[in-house]
Amino acid sequence: MNARIESLVRPEIRALRAYQVPESAGLIKLDAMENPYTWPEALQSEWLETLRGLELNRYPDPKGLVLQAALREAMAIPDEMGVLLGNGSDELIQMLALTLAQPGAKVLSVDPGFVMYRMIGLFAGMDYVGVPLQSEDFSLDLQAVLAAIERERPALIYLAYPNNPTGNRFDADDMVRIIESASGLVVVDEAYAPFTDASFLGLVGDWNNLVVMRTLSKMGLAGLRLGYLVGPPAWLAEIDKVRLPYNINVLTQVSAAFALRHKAVFDAQARAIRAERSRLLEALDSIPGLHPYPSEANFILTRVPAGRAGAIFAGLKQAGILVKNLDGTHPLLADCLRFTVGTPDENAALVRALGGTPARDGPGLGAGNKSAHFGAL
Ligand SMILES: *Cc1c(COP(=O)(O)O)cnc(C)c1O
Repeated sequence: MNARIESLVRPEIRALRAYQVPESAGLIKLDAMENPYTWPEALQSEWLETLRGLELNRYPDPKGLVLQAALREAMAIPDEMGVLLGNGSDELIQMLALTLAQPGAKVLSVDPGFVMYRMIGLFAGMDYVGVPLQSEDFSLDLQAVLAAIERERPALIYLAYPNNPTGNRFDADDMVRIIESASGLVVVDEAYAPFTDASFLGLVGDWNNLVVMRTLSKMGLAGLRLGYLVGPPAWLAEIDKVRLPYNINVLTQVSAAFALRHKAVFDAQARAIRAERSRLLEALDSIPGLHPYPSEANFILTRVPAGRAGAIFAGLKQAGILVKNLDGTHPLLADCLRFTVGTPDENAALVRALGGTPARDGPGLGAGNKSAHFGAL
């Protein structure tokens, strides 16, 4: 290798592989927890009208105040709490690391969990401590987490609620025990909030070391890249200092505020995805050899017969369906694939490709042409 690269690039960066996103052109995309539904045509046109008056020669509002107000209203964010916007929640994770990284400062989370907590911690020079989840059902090993907190004194703790890639939601009382035992900042990552009834958002302010992180990505706006952090203003004021000016572009600010004014459309889509999730779980469960795990997110983790994950992943791709193969990423995920919940048609194609029988048409948003039934909303 170029000697200059070798001497100048940090060894921990050289040891990495850049984040891989597989080619998906022409495939049914059930790999990335995207909402499969688009917008009704009338809403599309109305949105395009809001873009017409934008002046792209001007910098965006640095704090995105109109968007913040729309978020506060749509998500019922407690008035006394602060809001900080990020270019996706990934950027918020980066801002948290930049704020708290100092020699010896550690990040703690549970494994298997969301990989960016560890990756971004590493970019910022923080050591990562991963506490294994329980092997039977991926629940928290509370005693192990509490012991690790006491031993490692992490500055930053992440708990995804529900968890990715397992789909389960941790026990709320266990979460509270962790918040109360932590000397560091606890981030409850609610990326999958649209697909569960549980949340800590209404509880921010009850503890001065709790912040809640959300994103519009899984709700149906992954292309906009907007995440938000809610918490005590004193914390957010510090984190805001490492934010790049104008991190939320003009198109995202206006489009997200518009979408939030029409949140009912996204709520209906989330309800449809939740109904489809039950039907998909049932269909997967009835396929011999498959063990799908219950989920409060928009994906279903499924264990397949030992040693078969790679072949099943390849077979699905051959059949035109892209899913996520988690086999080999963590010992607890051996033989596991992750299926994002798609439209009824997409899920039926998945079930058929796996050799099962799709559930009959359920309530959902109905099978078939998605814009047609959205017209009826
Ligand atoms: C998808 C995901 C995110 C990242 O969301 P973006 O806002 O798209 O960056 C964060 N946390 C968890 C647990 C996720 O699954």
